Amino acid sequence: MISVSEALDHLFALAGPLDTETVPLSQANGRVLAAPVQARRDQPPFAGSAMDGYAVIGDEVQPGATFTVIGEAAAGHGFDGEVAKGQAVRIFTGAPVPQGASRVVIQEDVIRDGDTITLRDNLDQGTHIRPKGADFADGSDVTAPRLLGPSDIALLAAMNIAEVPVTRRPRVAILSTGDELVMPGENPGPDQIIASNSFGLQAMLRDLGAEARLLPIARDTRASLETAFSLADDADLLITIGGASVGDHDLVGEVAVDLGMERSFYKIAMRPGKPLMAGRLASGAMMIGLPGNPVSAMVCGHVFVTPVIRAMLGLGQAAVQERHATLAAPLTPNGPRQHYMRARIEDGQITAFDNQDSSLLTVLAAANALLIRPPSDGAREAGETMAYLPI
Ligand code: AMP
Ligand code: MG
Repeated sequence: MISVSEALDHLFALAGPLDTETVPLSQANGRVLAAPVQARRDQPPFAGSAMDGYAVIGDEVQPGATFTVIGEAAAGHGFDGEVAKGQAVRIFTGAPVPQGASRVVIQEDVIRDGDTITLRDNLDQGTHIRPKGADFADGSDVTAPRLLGPSDIALLAAMNIAEVPVTRRPRVAILSTGDELVMPGENPGPDQIIASNSFGLQAMLRDLGAEARLLPIARDTRASLETAFSLADDADLLITIGGASVGDHDLVGEVAVDLGMERSFYKIAMRPGKPLMAGRLASGAMMIGLPGNPVSAMVCGHVFVTPVIRAMLGLGQAAVQERHATLAAPLTPNGPRQHYMRARIEDGQITAFDNQDSSLLTVLAAANALLIRPPSDGAREAGETMAYLPI
């Protein structure tokens, strides 16, 4: 058995970054920017007004001063002339500040009578002018790699970048294996259960930015597994679920090796999820064989599949970032395997669920964290700081 971090090293050796493609900005949210891009203009492109008011020469501003209004500047419609002494231009938010003006007096500070304005007492002291390029300058970089979110999309749009280079979405094929499995919505026989992990993993993968498709469930026969494997030829990653232990019906590893998989490892010192395997298939695709128990498969999805997908997306080769919280209730000593305990965080306090059976999806669904117990971790008291992964 190897440790979790050794297994991750092996996985990263199999998971190189994928090639890139160009997508329109409207489809770039959630994608990974693959190369730096540069702003194609200053923003704002001119010194602009931040308020509705009157543009004047700043030195002339004092209570009681009067100005003659000589024109108007609105957003999209600048004022052509120049502001001279004793003159003001009516101005609105987003309008270019006219030549000569150096301050916008907000309209609340002005009494207007025809084309004359008089400034009130207690004037607001701001200039209310956004300098040219205050947000970003022409040519400034958005660095890569970067997982693009809504704020980035707004920034790129403002930079006049209509399409961006992104890493291709990893193509993942998910294969449930087992004679007992049927699809949700079907009528299970008395000895059957519903395939669930495959759906949970598909959701997880899609959240990560992968294209994830479900293969038809494979039966516990060589022929069925061989057919299923052949359907994954175009995938970057094949994830199998179940059939990976050492039972008579656990054929996944055997069939994969017979089909040319170079096995990189098998079995990890962790709980849940010991029987996990990985390797490279003859097609060039990476394969990860997950254990069948629903919670084991999902935990392995968080601990191993998530970093693999991030590596494929070009986001670097790193374990999921651990966080820390205060233990709310004591824990008994851990065994020799790293334990990912289903736990709940509330107000910075973490509590492990009493029942850690790896078949209980209700417990997993109630959890929002995996509390990490290193191998042979001693008993822990309430109040100690523990590492966890958010889920
Ligand atoms: P296995 O690793 O094939 O021995 O499966 C271990 C346990 O997980 C068994 O109880 C299986 O019925 C269950 N199992 C395997 N695959 C799935 C799946 N895709 N969805 C739900 N349960 C599964
Ligand atoms: Mg099975």
